[in-house]
Amino acid sequence: MHALNFDNRWLRELPGDAETANYTRQVPHALWSRVRPRLVKAPKLLAYSPEVAQMLGLSEADMQGGEMLQALAGNALLPGMEGYATRYAGHQFGNWAGQLGDGRAIMLGELMHDNKRFELQLKGAGLTPYSRQGDGLAVLRSSLREFLCSEAMHHLGVPTTRALSLVTTGEQVTRDMFYNGNPQLEAGAIICRVAPSFTRFGHFEMLASADEIELLKQFIVFTLQRDFPEWLQTASNQHGWKPISMQSLEPEMIEVWFTEICERTAILMAHWMRVGFVHGVMNTDNMSILGLTIDYGPYGWVDNFDPGWTPNTTDAQGRRYCFGRQADIARWNLERLAEALMPLLSTTKGLSNGIAHYDQTYMRTLMSSLAGKFGWDNWQADDGDLIDRCFELMTRAEVDMTLFFSHLAELDLAQPDIATLQPAFYTEQGFLQFKDDFQLWLQHYANRSKNTPPEVRQAQMQSHNPRYVLRNYMAQQAIDNAEQGDTGPLLELMQLLRTPYTLQPDMEKYAQKRPDWARHKAGCSMLSCSS
Ligand code: AMP
Ligand code: MG
Repeated sequence: MHALNFDNRWLRELPGDAETANYTRQVPHALWSRVRPRLVKAPKLLAYSPEVAQMLGLSEADMQGGEMLQALAGNALLPGMEGYATRYAGHQFGNWAGQLGDGRAIMLGELMHDNKRFELQLKGAGLTPYSRQGDGLAVLRSSLREFLCSEAMHHLGVPTTRALSLVTTGEQVTRDMFYNGNPQLEAGAIICRVAPSFTRFGHFEMLASADEIELLKQFIVFTLQRDFPEWLQTASNQHGWKPISMQSLEPEMIEVWFTEICERTAILMAHWMRVGFVHGVMNTDNMSILGLTIDYGPYGWVDNFDPGWTPNTTDAQGRRYCFGRQADIARWNLERLAEALMPLLSTTKGLSNGIAHYDQTYMRTLMSSLAGKFGWDNWQADDGDLIDRCFELMTRAEVDMTLFFSHLAELDLAQPDIATLQPAFYTEQGFLQFKDDFQLWLQHYANRSKNTPPEVRQAQMQSHNPRYVLRNYMAQQAIDNAEQGDTGPLLELMQLLRTPYTLQPDMEKYAQKRPDWARHKAGCSMLSCSS
């Protein structure tokens, strides 16, 4: 195993917890607590992402070697690695939840490669001071889902944390999947996640709520320097800022930086809406400061288009985090972040500008994504109405989102015929009931689409509409097989989702509607936070 270059600034520059024993507690005046990952019996590398390995400068031999496996399982720290858990708080389902923290994520340090910084983090590697009532562990089911989906999102071009490896521990973990008094033993697993930074809105909320304002200030300076170096350089030139430090930090810097976070978050939301991704638990502790998709739990992919759909059974009543509300929720979360920054500012003006920038960026990006999905090269005044009508019909008639756009690309604009779209309808009845309405819509659509040159139309539709997405039942099949020791389907999905926009003739079984059996099956349509 070749030597890795770690530069653990979080530990070096931010204050840590004086207590070193590992028990659940409140941790004041610190951003991290030292912890050792727990030892596991029989680790096995189920899969790894060659793309992430390459990004980190890890060779195939490194990845297949025993030393790496021990590190990825939490049994050993490689030279330069240090175990720690970070302290954050958050709003969960709209309510203030106080201190949360890395309850089952253990940082291994900051790996430097090619002049880039990557935080490495094990998820499911045991208890930390932030584990509260949890066991610090993760099961194969949810770990495989996170591993597979974070890589799939990357290949879709959606900002996301990455996943290096999926390891089973050889141990069993008890989970009551639906919180209904049916605990079962499941295979334990650990993934190694990778991102330039895992910092969440909740890290800032923690310090503000504890009234640790000097530390909040220090953490903002740290974040600007470590996590936003290029942006800071450009912004400093633009605004004529002095090099950033505790002494030179000005309100304007915080406000302009908040606006940048708003922008990234808006772009992320437009991506989720474009590809039909529903995060499922958009609590403020699951919001990345870099605008990455983070913390894959009971997420899901839209099959039949429905703004009210949520994959998370825990949220089935309120539907706070359903597909159609994601942009509003992200905005609400940004307002909570803004509140956490307020102690360092004297007026709310700059932060309100940030929120306004969020609204504008989201609308602009969404409109351009939607224009792309429908095959247009620009946005015209009536397009919003035309699209709203389409989405309304899709919802009422139960039309598959991904398939709809694949088939729409094949429409003959000279003679638009609803039959082209029939394979995207879930039921015969839905088709029969709505085909006349849809036919009328198609005529308006064909009219609207005529002035976009055919090659532009094709290019737009191909680059905005994935042909393959990780439908929930597909992930579940990979899980069922992996639990029986067969990683074939997992590896096949990894391969498929590397080029999600490209037709792969021998993989067309994955460009189909959700099968009927998956409609109401656990893991396929119903997921919970239990993981
Ligand atoms: P999540 O809903 O997964 O974003 O988790 C919210 C909080 O609960 C975070 O602080 C997690 O670290 C913590 N948590 C979730 N599951 C566990 C677990 N099994 N053991 C310990 N902490 C957990
Ligand atoms: Mg979380």
